Amino acid sequence: MTYIEDFAKIIEEQLVRVERMKNAQDAPDFAAMDKIVIGTIDGDGIGPIIMDSCRAILEKLLADEIASGRIELRRIDGLTIENRIAKMETVPADVLAAIKECDLLLKGPTTTPGKGDGRPNLESANVTLRRELDLFANVRPVVIPEKNIDWIFYRENTEGEYALGSKGVEINDDLSIDFKVTTTAGTVRLARAAFEYAKNNGNKKVSIITKANIMKKTDGKFLDLCRQVAEEYPEIEVDDWYVDIMAANLIDDKINSNFNVFILPNLYGDIITDEAAQMQGGVGTAGSANIGGRYAMFEAIHGSAPRMVEDGIAEYANPASLCRAAIMMLRHMGLASKAEVLESAVDGAAVDLFMPGDGRGNTAYDFTDYVLAHI
Ligand code: NAD
Repeated sequence: MTYIEDFAKIIEEQLVRVERMKNAQDAPDFAAMDKIVIGTIDGDGIGPIIMDSCRAILEKLLADEIASGRIELRRIDGLTIENRIAKMETVPADVLAAIKECDLLLKGPTTTPGKGDGRPNLESANVTLRRELDLFANVRPVVIPEKNIDWIFYRENTEGEYALGSKGVEINDDLSIDFKVTTTAGTVRLARAAFEYAKNNGNKKVSIITKANIMKKTDGKFLDLCRQVAEEYPEIEVDDWYVDIMAANLIDDKINSNFNVFILPNLYGDIITDEAAQMQGGVGTAGSANIGGRYAMFEAIHGSAPRMVEDGIAEYANPASLCRAAIMMLRHMGLASKAEVLESAVDGAAVDLFMPGDGRGNTAYDFTDYVLAHI
C-alpha cells in the first residue's frame, strides 16, 4: 500500500510542476531592455583562469555597451566547492539570490564531490541551477567543417528519466522500478525553442529523436507534440528517428551532413551530445547553453579539470570552450555581429596556437593575447 501512496505523491508533485510551467515567464526581449546584467561565475579548478581570459575578451568586445551602461558584467562570487561545503548548500542561498538578479549567466565549471573522495556528498551545482532557474533546454552546437557537419542539439533538460532519478523504488531484492516523465508543457517549450532556432537560421532541417516504438506513452507523447509544433513551421523540413539508428547515423559520413537541428528527450540527449562532441575533437572544444524562460546560462561542456591544477599546469587550460559558450550567449542576446567577430578570432586561435592542455605549447594567457589582438 505504501508504494501506492508514494506514487500518488509523485504524481501530485509533477502536476504542481506542470502548473508552474504553464505560468512560467517568457524569454526576455533583449532588444527592448535598457540594461542587461551578465553574471560571471568563476567556478573551481581551471575555472578562474579560463573565466579571466573570457572576461578580458568580453570587456574589449563589449566596451561601448559596458561604457554606456547597457551591459554590465557582474562577478558572482561564492560558487566554489570550498564555500559550498562550508555552508553545506549545493548553491548557497546568498549566491543563488545574486544569480537571480542577473539576466544571463556565463559559468565556469564547478566541482561535484565524487563517491569516496572524502568530501561531503553535495549535489551537482548544475542540477540545482537547472531546477532553480528552470533551464529547460540544453543546447549544444557541434561543427566539423571538413565533414560539412553543422549540428545543433536541443536536449530536454528537466524531465525524462532525470525528473525522478532519485525517486525510483526498490520493491524487494527481485524488483526495482524507476520512473520517466514527459509533460506537454515541458515538451512543447523545448520543441518551440528548436523550431524557432531553425526558422531564424535559414529554415534548417529538424530531426526528432525518440524511442517511441518502445516507450509509447512518454516518448510517444514527445514525438506527437514535436510533430504538432512542426505544423506551425510548414516551411521547415522535419523527420523523426529512433535513437539507436541515430547513434549510427551520426558516424555515417555518407549521410551525417544531411542533419541540422535535433530535438531529444533528456537521456538520449545526454548520450548523443557526448558522442557528437567527441567527433568534433573532444570536450575542450565545445560550449553549451542552458536556456529557460526568464534565465539562460552558458558554459563549457568540460569540468573543472582538478588534475591540471594538482599537476601545476592549470595555466595551460584552453579558454576556447568558455569563449564558445560566450559566442552562444552573444547570439542569444541578439548581438550576432559581435558573436561572429569573436568566433572568427577563436577559430584563428585554434589554428595558430598549440594547446594540448598537457603543459606543452601555449597558455591561457597566450590565448587571451591572441584573441584580444584579433577582435
Ligand atoms: P574534466 O572535464 O574536468 O577534465 C577531464 C580532462 O579534460 C582534464 O584532465 C583535462 O586533461 C581536459 N580538459 C578539460 N577542460 C580543458 C580545457 N579547457 N583545456 C584543456 N584541457 C581540458 O572532467 P572530470 O575530471 O571528469 O571532472 C572534474 C570535475 O568537474 C568533477 O568534479 C565533475 O563533477 C565536474 N564537472 C563539472 C561540469 C560543469 O560544471 N558543467 C561538467 C563536467 C564535470
